[in-house]
Amino acid sequence: MNPSTPDPQREQAEPAKTPPRALQKSRKARVGHGESVAERLSALYPASRCSLDFRSPLELLLATILSAQCTDRRVNQVTPELFRRWPTAARLAAARQEDVEEVIRSTGFFRAKAKNLLGCCQGLVERHGGEVPVTLEELVTLPGVGRKTANVVLGVGFGRAEGIVVDTHVGRICRRLDLTRRTDAVGAERDLVAVVPRGQWIVFSHQLIDHGRAVCLARRPRCAGCGLADLCPQRGVPAAAGRQVARRRTPAGHGKEPSGGVHSGGVRRQTGRTPRGNVP
Ligand code: SF4
Repeated sequence: MNPSTPDPQREQAEPAKTPPRALQKSRKARVGHGESVAERLSALYPASRCSLDFRSPLELLLATILSAQCTDRRVNQVTPELFRRWPTAARLAAARQEDVEEVIRSTGFFRAKAKNLLGCCQGLVERHGGEVPVTLEELVTLPGVGRKTANVVLGVGFGRAEGIVVDTHVGRICRRLDLTRRTDAVGAERDLVAVVPRGQWIVFSHQLIDHGRAVCLARRPRCAGCGLADLCPQRGVPAAAGRQVARRRTPAGHGKEPSGGVHSGGVRRQTGRTPRGNVP
């Protein structure tokens, strides 16, 4: 996960910091907007996918726990050794915490993460026969597993669309797109699942994360070349970026058309895997 990504457990516990949904549009308009954004993202990022390496739901669960406050690339560097030394939940549950800490040290917060990995595997062994459960309610009872991690495991590991993963990137971009005005992950997810077609819940987060890394950057969004620009009210976007788009949207003869065209999708189609350090 991105270093700025809040801990999933804390996210879940935090109260909403913003007023209840303030979107002024009708429900029909909000759903239409969500569908349009989801459709456009699929056209722009057809290859978006989880960037954590895993071979089973258990490996995905453990890798996702490790990805809190850490890049996926870094996680992928330590998990081969972790999975080699402790290939099952039962083996990891019985491991010495200091040994696990040593293997995962470079992912940061290694003591807390090692404790969570062991606790999670002990819970799997004691309550689920060593297997990863397939319901959100069961998953979030495991140490180190919040709603976000559970959604990742259910969506990516089991293909079950139970929710939308909301991390820092997803939240920021969705607020700019006015798909939500919530700053808490749980509230934002509630808004998103109401407007994004369920068939796209799993891939939606991956696409937004790719978009956030390539175009809708946290500090300087590249609105002028954004393939979503015609759908985006740019809520809260720094004025400079907004003005740049406004100039380029003026009629022919009164302004410059952006190279690549706002509506033609200045973003290149994604044809391969995009390195990123966030939600898988
Ligand atoms: S138009 Fe700007 S704010 Fe909106 S999604 Fe694109 S880059 Fe982000």
